[in-house]
Amino acid sequence: MPFAQRLTQVETSAIRELFKLLGKPGIISFAGGFPDSAMFDVDGIRAASEAALREEPGAALQYGATEGYQPLREQLSAFMTAKGVQGLAPEQLIVTTGSQQALDLLGKTLIDPGDKVIVEGPTFLATIQCFRLYGADLVSAPIDAHGVQVDQLEQLIEQHAPKLVYLIPTFGNPSGATLSLERRKRILELAVKHRTVIVEDDPYGDLYFGEAPPPSLLALSSEVPGSRDWLVHCGSLSKVLAPGLRVGWLIAPPELLAHATMCKQFSDAHTSTFAQATAAQYLKAGRMPATLARVREVYARRAQAMGDALRSELGDAIDFVQPQGGLFVWARLTGAGGAVADGRELARRAIEQGVAFVPGTPFFCAQPDHATLRLSFATADVEKIREGIARLGQALQTAPAP
Ligand code: PMP
Repeated sequence: MPFAQRLTQVETSAIRELFKLLGKPGIISFAGGFPDSAMFDVDGIRAASEAALREEPGAALQYGATEGYQPLREQLSAFMTAKGVQGLAPEQLIVTTGSQQALDLLGKTLIDPGDKVIVEGPTFLATIQCFRLYGADLVSAPIDAHGVQVDQLEQLIEQHAPKLVYLIPTFGNPSGATLSLERRKRILELAVKHRTVIVEDDPYGDLYFGEAPPPSLLALSSEVPGSRDWLVHCGSLSKVLAPGLRVGWLIAPPELLAHATMCKQFSDAHTSTFAQATAAQYLKAGRMPATLARVREVYARRAQAMGDALRSELGDAIDFVQPQGGLFVWARLTGAGGAVADGRELARRAIEQGVAFVPGTPFFCAQPDHATLRLSFATADVEKIREGIARLGQALQTAPAP
């Protein structure tokens, strides 16, 4: 077939290839990036969808505005206001089909082939693929436990004059890292100083276990004059409510939002009105705070269990920062005592032992650190986490196949 040239920029995700192996009976998986489906508030979502059909059947089942269903835009702007974002009118956001679509719309509206785009090393795999599909030349900015290293980021901005900088400032996927308050302010200043678009992708910010993380870049933008003109924010109900609803949102300066809306019109016309009306009813019913409290509590327990098990089963063969939120432990194999030091090799051996995770390599757009791995603690219960990490410990000890 005469396929488009752009397809040569991307390949099937290594993670998807790995998922094919997960059908093996008895496997404990730490590989997915999903929330736990056992925690979905099914009763609440059922009540919300019934209310949508009862109160607004025409709107919930009819074509709708590309920008989104107005009652949902109102609920989402209130949701963001409650999280410290000042002066956000419903018209300043559009509803997207998951935040994944927001990323795609940003690619469509901003990226020409050959454009430089800065992302964190490591970053969300689907962003790498999505931006590459538009021909982006990705540049990797190093991170540490406090998120992207701002001095290096500034150097890279000066060197490459990127079209945009893409960041996951809170509980990054895969890194779990959270950008400090001081670095957040500096990034907003960089945006103004270098007239650079900063994209804040924030699907995990509400999933904190103890103290709340620092305010989002969007919330802080009111403290840094001019920064809102350069800031884009992507939000999502996927990780806190249900990814199957496919409800996300995009907040951007007016001209960019108008272009993104136009592109969305030619893509899916609008996000499912039924899903939007259901989400609007759910938020209106005031169920979100209790749902958030519940998921935070369960994931906190699982994160703790995974951290404890890793420390006791793998000891100094692994190095990681105990996550304070999100869904992932990001870890590095140290090779201590001659143990395996390559995440890809350990992933192969782990499958043999009945446990799966994702090696860190594919999350880097350049110079991968092959010693890294991503373990999700979201979908297995505490017992399974302990058992799975014990298996991982065994995989670390097994000799490689001849
Ligand atoms: N951004 C990040 C960082 C993610 O981890 C994910 C989901 N894994 C998404 C965006 C997309 O989420 P959704 O489209 O379901 O909102």
